[in-house]
Amino acid sequence: MSTIPHFANYINGEWVSSGKSFDNRNPANTDEIVGTFAKGSAADVDAAAAAAEAAFAGWANMPAPARGNILFKAADILEKKFDQLGAEMTREEGKTLPEAKGEVRRAINIFRYFAAEGSRMNGVMVPSERERVHVFAVRKPIGVVGLVTPWNFPIAIPAWKMAPALICGNTIVVKPASASPLCAWRLVEALHEAGIPKGVVNFVAGSGGELGAALVNAKPVKAISFTGSNDVGHWIHAEASKRRMRIQLEMGGKNPTIVLADADLKSAVENVCNAAFFSTGQKCTATSRAIVEDGIYDAFVAALVERTKKLKVGDGMQAGIDIGPCVDKGQLETVLKYIGIAKSEGGEPLCGGNQLTGEGYDKGYFVEPTIFADVKPEHTLAKEEVFGPVLAILRAKDFDDAMRIANDTPFGLSSSIQTSNLSKALDYVYRAEAGLLTINLPSAGVEYQLPFGGTKDSSFGPKEQGPAAFDFYSDFKTVYLKY
Ligand code: NAP
Ligand code: MG
Repeated sequence: MSTIPHFANYINGEWVSSGKSFDNRNPANTDEIVGTFAKGSAADVDAAAAAAEAAFAGWANMPAPARGNILFKAADILEKKFDQLGAEMTREEGKTLPEAKGEVRRAINIFRYFAAEGSRMNGVMVPSERERVHVFAVRKPIGVVGLVTPWNFPIAIPAWKMAPALICGNTIVVKPASASPLCAWRLVEALHEAGIPKGVVNFVAGSGGELGAALVNAKPVKAISFTGSNDVGHWIHAEASKRRMRIQLEMGGKNPTIVLADADLKSAVENVCNAAFFSTGQKCTATSRAIVEDGIYDAFVAALVERTKKLKVGDGMQAGIDIGPCVDKGQLETVLKYIGIAKSEGGEPLCGGNQLTGEGYDKGYFVEPTIFADVKPEHTLAKEEVFGPVLAILRAKDFDDAMRIANDTPFGLSSSIQTSNLSKALDYVYRAEAGLLTINLPSAGVEYQLPFGGTKDSSFGPKEQGPAAFDFYSDFKTVYLKY
């Protein structure tokens, strides 16, 4: 008898399985099935949207601090399963266990942060121009919100969409990524166990194309928050705009880290290595271009290659592993394709460049951390998102040249600079075309209490996380009162 667990969809407070299912496999060992998931249909999305619509008035009218109490309780439930959740994430997504646990911690923090916002939820109160008139604006929820999430932060991203949506009084339909649906399922389970009223939270796993179309077309759904690829984001934009839905899109990037000649070499190397390769380069905020000033170029490249060669690739469940596998076969093939393109355009990797094979690697999607130096801005590797452990290093003549190269991209998610010059650091802050900037830190690694999101082609709509999340998940009702 198989002991593989099965995970049902959650619609109107019930766990439902339609009959069809799909496997969630471990990318470090594809023989291992982490679980089977009910494969939802468009009809399931319609049922979920209808349930969410029916539950809306009750949830929206519950005092926000009471909604917060349910989120606090769910956070406590997640806390009790902390180690289990971390291990499950490593097994379904591939990132190392310490990274996975860090992400579970973040999801719990996000739930608690937004739970507490239930008793703040500021509106606007200002003096009126008129005598004996009282003016104020209160926040109100939008209604049913669809949440579509990617596989790379399988618990943090669902958490940072679900928690603010719920605390604002919206009801939700969650569609997780098919490669790593278990983490989002655990959030739903925790909310169920915390006693969330039926219909407030609904979860439908399955094909993005089919369920995405159903979500965009489901009449009760008034807003969609999406994180994923540009192609899908642009499709949602086109379709959802026909119904004038509120949308929020977080998409791709080609994030630069500028290394100036005055940077602390050791920490610049550490920061770029971390941002380019940790989580297998599969963070939306990962550095994929290092733009290095002439004066430090040779020393930086040599030190980074030396550091990168020390990274240990393997099953993220094992201690001492730095880099896990690519999330699936498609992602591995994309990485190898871009390495091939870089070579065909005249590049030779200074380290890496190959899929890893042999004992411990043959059953997973492992690839070596790879560095190409002397990449030119017109090369494909300088322009297109790889979403894997492949770094392009570009040479800059000076600070202005580095700024020009850094901004020469349609994307604008994250950007970083390594410098000890305060004036240049501030100049960078004002000139960098990205939504998330770091200085003397890795380009990746954000905190939940601040706005998150990009600019240019990386993002569309209001920011996520922190107080900014309310701009998407709520609306104002403005009141003028004569007394
Ligand atoms: P993806 O293929 O766009 O998938 C994202 C989600 O959309 C998944 O749940 C997917 O379902 C679903 N989906 C697929 N086709 C759809 C459709 N036609 N309509 C509606 N939903 C659909 O992206 P991914 O490969 O999972 O993630 C990698 C990409 O996400 C990268 O480009 C990365 O830069 C970006 N990303 C951005 C951020 C950010 O904050 N800006 C964060 C993380 C990732 P299935 O899984 O079933 O296909
Ligand atoms: Mg998986």
